[in-house]
Amino acid sequence: MPGGRFGIIIIALIGLAVYYFSNQEVNPYSGKTEFNTISIDQASQLGAQTYVQMLQQEGRNVICGGGVSSCDVAGREVYDTVNEIGERLRLAAIEMEQDYLDAGYEFQPVAREFDWTFNVINSEQPNAFCLPGGYVAIYTGILDITGNYDGQVTLADIQDVDKLAVVMGHEIGHAMAHHGAKRMSNSRLAQFGTIAVGLGLGDMDPGQARMVQQAMGLAAQGGLMAFSREHETEADKIGLELLVRACYDPREAPELWQRMGEIGGGQRPPEWMSTHPASETRAENFRQWMPAAVEMYEQRCGRLDRGF
Ligand SMILES: [Zn+2]
Repeated sequence: MPGGRFGIIIIALIGLAVYYFSNQEVNPYSGKTEFNTISIDQASQLGAQTYVQMLQQEGRNVICGGGVSSCDVAGREVYDTVNEIGERLRLAAIEMEQDYLDAGYEFQPVAREFDWTFNVINSEQPNAFCLPGGYVAIYTGILDITGNYDGQVTLADIQDVDKLAVVMGHEIGHAMAHHGAKRMSNSRLAQFGTIAVGLGLGDMDPGQARMVQQAMGLAAQGGLMAFSREHETEADKIGLELLVRACYDPREAPELWQRMGEIGGGQRPPEWMSTHPASETRAENFRQWMPAAVEMYEQRCGRLDRGF
């Protein structure tokens, strides 16, 4: 009975639409309302669990943190540096959220509640992340890229920390805008949608049905990829503002991302893969944002050295 099946799809899709529109939250950084079904507490709990597991797995690769970490003089210096940057960015995040609240945006601030933790992992991977809840990991493999870029990780790489602050600000930006929770919510929605359509494919010949489902899958994947790129741009923007509020030189950001774009495909950890915006788009974004960022920096932190 094809009519009945069609009815089921319609009801399922209406259900999905209701689900979608009744789970919207304001994103103060884009000014838009967005779909999210995962609360800050749930996301932070997931973040904490994942972080604890990750630290356990890394064991003695964790430098000077809790648990079974290893710690020598050099490790202590890196750990302290990352934690100093983290503390400045944490205060910047609290201040930034307060300013958006004062400006009239209605959203639940997170920076005050997060259980901010900054750890350094000894690893060749040029990786970094901030999980929901404020759980940050910096892999030593990224330090040369944020440092003097001479091809090896040494203590000289933490002489000038502005580019490391760029990376940490970007990662914290993802967590402040709940990107992890939104991504999970949307992929769940895409799954439900695919199931709803699947219900109606029963009468089709199996080959055709497979084609339709593949096309649906590809569309969903494409949608989620575009969504990730949007998140990357947003994290760049939030990161830049955190940088300025913490008095790190915002002009270091474009150069850092240019370096990041140069890392070879195979070596790139997931966070720097294809979901990141094309280098040209990213460079153009920073060109647009930079005058305001430099102005804000100079108002708050003093004159920037123009260098020419
Ligand atoms: Zn990112």
